[in-house]
Amino acid sequence: MSTVPSLKMNNGLEIPQLGFGVFLVPPEETQEAVAEALKADYRLIDTAQGYRNEEGVGAAIAESDIPREELFITSKLTNSEHGYDSALAAFEGSMQKLGIEVLDLFLIHWPLPMFDQYVETWRAFEKLLADGRVRSIGVSNFEIDHLQRLMAETDVVPAVNQIELHPQFPQEALREFHQEHGILTESWGPLGQGKGLLEDPSVVEVARRKDRTPAQVVLRWHIQLGCVVIPKSVNPERIRENIDVFDFELDDADMAEISKVRTGQRLGADPNVFAMR
Ligand code: NAD
Repeated sequence: MSTVPSLKMNNGLEIPQLGFGVFLVPPEETQEAVAEALKADYRLIDTAQGYRNEEGVGAAIAESDIPREELFITSKLTNSEHGYDSALAAFEGSMQKLGIEVLDLFLIHWPLPMFDQYVETWRAFEKLLADGRVRSIGVSNFEIDHLQRLMAETDVVPAVNQIELHPQFPQEALREFHQEHGILTESWGPLGQGKGLLEDPSVVEVARRKDRTPAQVVLRWHIQLGCVVIPKSVNPERIRENIDVFDFELDDADMAEISKVRTGQRLGADPNVFAMR
């Protein structure tokens, strides 16, 4: 059994609190990386149609002898497939590549508010849920106003919003909104995408105090905020290091020290203007 604790979603189902992200893992390396992650006890795998590596994830699932019900597979609708019929068709494409019968979590990857289709797309997600093709549905990169509109105009409250979140960009307001509405926060770019966070003196200092690595104390910071976290690495040693975060705790002073790195600046795109499809 996995050592990773689970969190309960608003539909009563559970999601592992830590998983393996495969953004930018080349398609030909994905099967091996996912197999390594499964061996290291990861059970949640986070892919997307846009990552072009769902087949590699599927191959690793097919080769693994872990019972399907112990795995938690997430994929995301790619930006070009917004709209009711396109979303349904694109979902079936994902399922063929993944080689599974039911998906654990399907997310709208980006809201693309300028095209005004996410409500219609969400209705397709509600149909997939009603038809039993997916166990949970959620969104990614949604801001408060996008969530408010979904909740006003549709029936199912997203189980999860997967957003850019790390100590430099801690998303206080969005996290609070999620909490008020029973939406789980899932952190993408949790390690700051290799762009300097892990070398920050505050992070290095907490790692020294705890006799852990900078990546481990940052992942622990996410866990203690109550987020689901999906670090990515293709290095087997780091894959193991990143899941080894459940036998120590940060105290208030450690959490505050790490929070000092806050810049309030995103590393990735702004969901209100990101229009790529
Ligand atoms: P991340 O913060 O997980 O950083 C990954 C990078 O950190 C690696 O490439 C490596 O350079 C470094 N790293 C990993 N482990 C390390 C360790 N132990 N020590 C030192 N350096 C280490 O960034 P990410 O991959 O962008 O985000 C994680 C996952 O989130 C993705 O793989 C993907 O599944 C998801 N994601 C989703 C969206 C979205 O729009 N929904 C966007 C980006 C990422």
